[in-house]
Amino acid sequence: MSAYNFGFLYPIFNFIFGSIVGSFLNVVIYRVPRSKSIVKPPSHCPSCGTRLKWYDMIPVLSYLILKGKCRYCHSNISIKYPLIEAITGLVFLLIGMKTGWSIKFVSYIIFSSFLIVVAFIDLFDGVVPDIIVIPGAILGLLFNLFYGKNPFLQSLFGVVAAAIFFGLIIVFSKGGMGEGDLTLGLMIGAFLGLKLTVAAIIIAFVIGALGGLFALLFLKKNKKDTIPFGPYLSVSAFVVLLYGYQILNFYFKMINF
Ligand SMILES: [Zn+2]
Repeated sequence: MSAYNFGFLYPIFNFIFGSIVGSFLNVVIYRVPRSKSIVKPPSHCPSCGTRLKWYDMIPVLSYLILKGKCRYCHSNISIKYPLIEAITGLVFLLIGMKTGWSIKFVSYIIFSSFLIVVAFIDLFDGVVPDIIVIPGAILGLLFNLFYGKNPFLQSLFGVVAAAIFFGLIIVFSKGGMGEGDLTLGLMIGAFLGLKLTVAAIIIAFVIGALGGLFALLFLKKNKKDTIPFGPYLSVSAFVVLLYGYQILNFYFKMINF
């Protein structure tokens, strides 16, 4: 170890890297449900159409410097853009603390980026696009194939378990849960493997129930208002990705298993 240790810079670097990826995820989140290309046209103000310069697109900072308004026409920019950039930055920072820079870091940030995209598309537009989650599921299988035979089998079992579980719910609840939850489940199963997928589904139902109760009590939502399950499932999958085994150990200690 040298006297000068720059390790403290890694979290900062990972946050900046994540926020840059987050600004691309914003484009995906906005354009995919509208069947628009994610590469062209280049970023422009949705109000006045002016093409944005690089200094208008610095993640989080540009929004703060411009006080949430377009530099050219002064119309308001939605807070969701810097928010998603900051969330992605934070997610990458947390992953880096867990994995260091490794092949795991790569697979974790890819999986998490897919989860962020799906969570927000489901939240804003109420759909889970196949064009996102099916390639995501295939990537999950490939990463686990790379890790070895056992992780790959776990990954396959995760996919099958999610398919059976959500398939049964769709059949028996008659519309209580959508096809999108199933396809998102497939991707989560592929990345997390069987054990962690089961944990992720259970935790998603717990926070989904709490969220539903909160909405019923405080947001004056009606029981009939459907709340998309994708965001809960995505948050839960991310928590389990980072802390799944700690959660499982804690749980089995609690029930003295
Ligand atoms: Zn403008």
